[in-house]
Amino acid sequence: MTGKIALLPGDGIGPEIMAATVDVINHLANRYNMTLTFVEKPIGGASIDQTGEPLSDDTLQECYQSDAILLGAVGGEQWDNLDHLNKPEAGLLKLRKSLDLFANIRPIKVYETFLTASPLKAEILNEVDFVILRELTGGIYFGEPRGYDQSRGWNTMTYSRSEVERIARLAFKKAQQRNGHLTSVDKANVLECSQFWRSVIGTVHEEFKDVELRNMYVDNAAMQIVRDPAQFDVIVTSNMFGDILSDIGGTITGSLGMLPSASFGKKHALYEPVHGSAPDLAGQNIANPIAMIASVALMFAHTFQMTQAAQIIEEAIKLTLSKGFRTQDIYQKGAKLVSTTEMTAALISQIEHILNEQAIGVFTL
Ligand code: NAD
Repeated sequence: MTGKIALLPGDGIGPEIMAATVDVINHLANRYNMTLTFVEKPIGGASIDQTGEPLSDDTLQECYQSDAILLGAVGGEQWDNLDHLNKPEAGLLKLRKSLDLFANIRPIKVYETFLTASPLKAEILNEVDFVILRELTGGIYFGEPRGYDQSRGWNTMTYSRSEVERIARLAFKKAQQRNGHLTSVDKANVLECSQFWRSVIGTVHEEFKDVELRNMYVDNAAMQIVRDPAQFDVIVTSNMFGDILSDIGGTITGSLGMLPSASFGKKHALYEPVHGSAPDLAGQNIANPIAMIASVALMFAHTFQMTQAAQIIEEAIKLTLSKGFRTQDIYQKGAKLVSTTEMTAALISQIEHILNEQAIGVFTL
């Protein structure tokens, strides 16, 4: 198999966790006889410094021509005073919009070794494993008219049938691949836009009769994610509700440094950690690379359809954590405190272990 991956390390800890992640990819690619081509391009502050803009045409063209895009993170104090259209974050928004990445997927999983690191009680977190699918290019964040004057401010929440249908189909398919349950979150008791959303979801459900669908109001969903998160399998929701719910979902897992994400359009896919550029850690080789490496598991599963390689990464993360390796953000007393590169080496050694055990029939996934 061949593939081309655009690498956009970005700012802060981006380049360090990107280097760690490329090590992991190369390792797996070798073992699976894949020929991968990498093209590295700047985005965010690094791009402003090199080209004068947060996302250059050159970077964008490389992204269009790649099978997958891997992004570190953007942003930093030195660019904070720029106009919002020229800030590093504007590069990321432009990238998502240009590639029409309409679906953001965020898996919410609690690693057993972290049951005590979450703000929630361990017994509530047992068996938590769900995904949030957030519509990313429509809804109130993009609706017109928008603006404010001296006396009022206004935004427009709007969804077209085709926008809801495409995210709904993806969500039903995801539920089919998992445990067959889909929760669609809206505010249909108050908002006409949500009533429309709910009716389109109901229509698309006709195509996926084997999936159990339930509708839930967003206020209730926020409460249920905290009260009983294990009840969820797949959640699908609009842009703003997804923004808020995915942060609640992320928080219950205990650490920002562990959370992967993927965004999909019809033709393109972008994989990135949920966290930002962590300028406080940059250049010190202490950032946690797991969020980004777990994003690569999503890349293997979705872009390259290599489910086994994805499972191997996830299993290696679990094994590495269970052996006590911890970067400083997830450090607990008695664990082995390691650097970014040491954590990466430990993960690669677990990947190697799984592959070897599989070859002799000891390890099954
Ligand atoms: P942040 O996610 O960068 O950091 C929040 C906290 O989490 C910090 O204490 C940081 O040290 C820690 N942290 C984050 N990632 C970590 C990792 N991999 N390992 C260990 N600890 C980690 O958020 P912030 O501080 O609010 O923002 C910093 C910059 O990042 C800002 O410029 C912001 O705009 C930008 N940002 C970018 C993205 C993105 O590129 N997708 C997302 C969020 C924030």
